[in-house]
Amino acid sequence: QIPTIFFITPTYKRLTQKADLTRLSQTLLHVPKLHWILVEDSHEKTNLVQRFLAGCGVQFSHLAVRTPKQLITKEGDPRWLKARGVEQRNLGLKWIRQNYKDGIDGVIYFGDDDNTYDLKIFEQMRYTKKISVWPVGLVGGLKWEGPICKDGSVVKFYTLWKPQRPMPLDMAGFAINAKLIIDNPDVEMDTMAARGYLESSIVSRLATRGEFEPLANNCKEILVWHTQTAEPKMKQEDRLKQMGFESDPSMEV
Ligand code: UDP
Ligand code: MN
Repeated sequence: QIPTIFFITPTYKRLTQKADLTRLSQTLLHVPKLHWILVEDSHEKTNLVQRFLAGCGVQFSHLAVRTPKQLITKEGDPRWLKARGVEQRNLGLKWIRQNYKDGIDGVIYFGDDDNTYDLKIFEQMRYTKKISVWPVGLVGGLKWEGPICKDGSVVKFYTLWKPQRPMPLDMAGFAINAKLIIDNPDVEMDTMAARGYLESSIVSRLATRGEFEPLANNCKEILVWHTQTAEPKMKQEDRLKQMGFESDPSMEV
C-alpha cells in the first residue's frame, strides 16, 4: 500500500477558475492514490465547482469557507498585502484530522489552482518522513527560489528576501507527513502571519531546517512552477454590459 497524497487547493471565483481547475485536475488524474481537497473561498459550495468536481474523475472532498472580510485584499491593494487561501488550507487540515483520528500513511501538499506540477514530484513527496522540500520556479521575483543542499541536507536557501526565515520557500515547495499534522492538532497556518511568513508559520512548529528532506535531485531540478494565470481581458464584455446586454449567462465558462 503506497501512502496517500492529500492535495489541498484553495480556490475562488475568478474568470479563469474553471479553466485552471480543469488543467489541474487533468494533472492530478495521472497520480495514483491522491485525494484532492478542494476548498472554495465562499460561504457555500458553488454549483460550478460542484458540477466540475462530479465530472472531473479525481477522488475528492469538497469544502468551503469564506475568508473573513478584514483579510480580503481590496481592489487596488497589491497582491502580496494579505495572504491568500489561508482559512481554506486550514480547513483542509482540519478535515484530515477529523477523518483520520487514528493516523494515516500519507503526505499533505498545498497546491494552488494555477501552478504547474511535474508528475515526478508526486512520487517523490509521497514518502516524506517529516517535511520534504524542493525548489520552485518563477517565484519571488526570480527565475527560481529554493533550498541549497550539501551531502543530502539543506544548508541554506536561495532567495533574495530574508533567507533566514524558518521556511523561506513558497507553499508549492514543500510537503508534510500527514501524521505530523494529526499528532500536532493545534498547528495551522497563521492568518495574521507577517508578509512572507505564512509558510514559516506552520513549518517552524513541525520541524527544524536540519530535518528537511531534499527532493528533486538534491534540489537541483525544477519540478513545480508558480505560474499565474493572466486575468482575461473583458473589453467587449464590458461594452456589451454598458449597452444592457451580456454573453449568454447559461453558458458556463
Ligand atoms: N485564493 C483564494 N481566495 C482569494 C485569492 C486566492 O482562495 O481571495 C486561492 C487561489 O485560487 C489559489 C491560491 O489561493 O489557489 C493563491 O492565490 P493566487 O493564485 O491568486 O495567488 P498568487 O499565486 O498570485 O500568489
Ligand atoms: Mn497562483
